[in-house]
Amino acid sequence: MMRRSTLNLDPDEIGQAGQLLTDLLQDYERLVPGHGVLPRVDRTALTALLNDPFPEQGTSIDQLFGYINDKIIPNSTTIASPRFLAYVLGPPNGIAPFMEAIAATLNQNCNFSQLSPSASVIERKVISWLGGLFGYPEDSGGIITSGGSMASLIAISTALHDKAGFDFRRQGLQALKRPLVLYTSSESHKAIEKDATILGVGVDNVRKIPVDAQYRMRPDLLKSAIEEDKRAGRQPFCVVASAGTVNTGAVDPINDIADICDQEGLWLHIDGAYGALFVLSESKRDMLSTCGRADSIALDPHKALFAPLEAGCLIVRRRETLRQAFTIYSSYLNADEDPLMVNYMDYGPQLSRGFKAFKVWASLQLFGTQAFVDAIERTLALAAYWGELVKAEPSMELMASVNLTAVCFRFKDLDEEGHKQLLAKLIDEGVALLGPVSLNGVTGIRACITNYRTEKSDIDLVLDWLKTQSRFFVTNIKTNGST
Ligand SMILES: *Cc1c(COP(=O)(O)O)cnc(C)c1O
Repeated sequence: MMRRSTLNLDPDEIGQAGQLLTDLLQDYERLVPGHGVLPRVDRTALTALLNDPFPEQGTSIDQLFGYINDKIIPNSTTIASPRFLAYVLGPPNGIAPFMEAIAATLNQNCNFSQLSPSASVIERKVISWLGGLFGYPEDSGGIITSGGSMASLIAISTALHDKAGFDFRRQGLQALKRPLVLYTSSESHKAIEKDATILGVGVDNVRKIPVDAQYRMRPDLLKSAIEEDKRAGRQPFCVVASAGTVNTGAVDPINDIADICDQEGLWLHIDGAYGALFVLSESKRDMLSTCGRADSIALDPHKALFAPLEAGCLIVRRRETLRQAFTIYSSYLNADEDPLMVNYMDYGPQLSRGFKAFKVWASLQLFGTQAFVDAIERTLALAAYWGELVKAEPSMELMASVNLTAVCFRFKDLDEEGHKQLLAKLIDEGVALLGPVSLNGVTGIRACITNYRTEKSDIDLVLDWLKTQSRFFVTNIKTNGST
């Protein structure tokens, strides 16, 4: 125990904490490759973590790091494991922990530029680089967010302001005589429905447009749904298309949908949280650059750009539209817009905001853009490899084509319960973490490669394990008369 007279560290302690941090990072790097994905959670340790009171007099830096190494790291999920293959979640790039420390040191408040001059320009730089990938014009803009859900929330909120057709700021949804309707596909992410709920649009006013055999929104059915709503006296205002559905990586037919939005005067938002950044890949560029036709795009640097959580981003075609939706004038936040620096409080719901753009900017500086292109190409190639192995294996089948880095597959002779048990055993034995998937009511397994550490050998190992073990879970014994 020690009594401290200040909340600062003295120079010796800064050196000691720095050394302990470096040691921790190096130990972690050594641990990751062979480590299980999910921890064997030590419930006693976690219960103590919950119940032990905070010390009144504090501990030493040594003791603090000891506690982290003994209790916290062993009870953490190894997201960076090369066999963490569930969801869309990857490891942070190597410089990120250092940059997070610097961001905490500077503690810039990215609400208005007086409190964050260089940070404001860095955020603007990251946003304009991202916008440039889709050919967005000079007067485009956006904001760094906590993730894709928040980016889409801000986009749909902006669409309400822009398309409601009355003074939305003053009257809000209270002024509605006819319900506003939002369209998205039946394969879109739950985040969109959640955003519509939060914004008061209401789930009943979210139309889930059916998809084609490739899990892409059907523009003909979008068109007829819009017409039906108009006939019934409702008011369409926004379409959310997916650039990379979370299940299969399907990219909706953006051009056709954009044509409809143009004709009908609707806001087109793209949920590109998973897939939009694959525009960096040569082979996906043509398909994804059509996102540039949208009014706004949500994307997630904490997925395809390997930024540590949290870093999402909304980019909007017309920065002024976003600003009009979020600017609130007040006497104590008097910040005129500078031609160089941006007051980000006027572009989203937050006032105090951290410097999330920094870790994204710094990694692009250190590694260069080509390193991210290469990492993305590698994950795409590994997913394609996975797909080829499944196709070559008679006991398995692909449930959907491999569009990006998600692979949905199943064992022909396993039913829902069999797949569930097989997955549970895979996870329980610490082989890998994969997720379940259900497409058109058929259950299977979903792998998603979002990790620059994953190798072909990891995929071979997981598939061999699954093949061998699946035999023990066969539940659909075929009775075709041949046996
Ligand atoms: C991850 C994801 C989201 C949600 O984004 P968060 O960053 O988790 O908030 C939304 N849509 C899709 C397609 C996603 O993959």
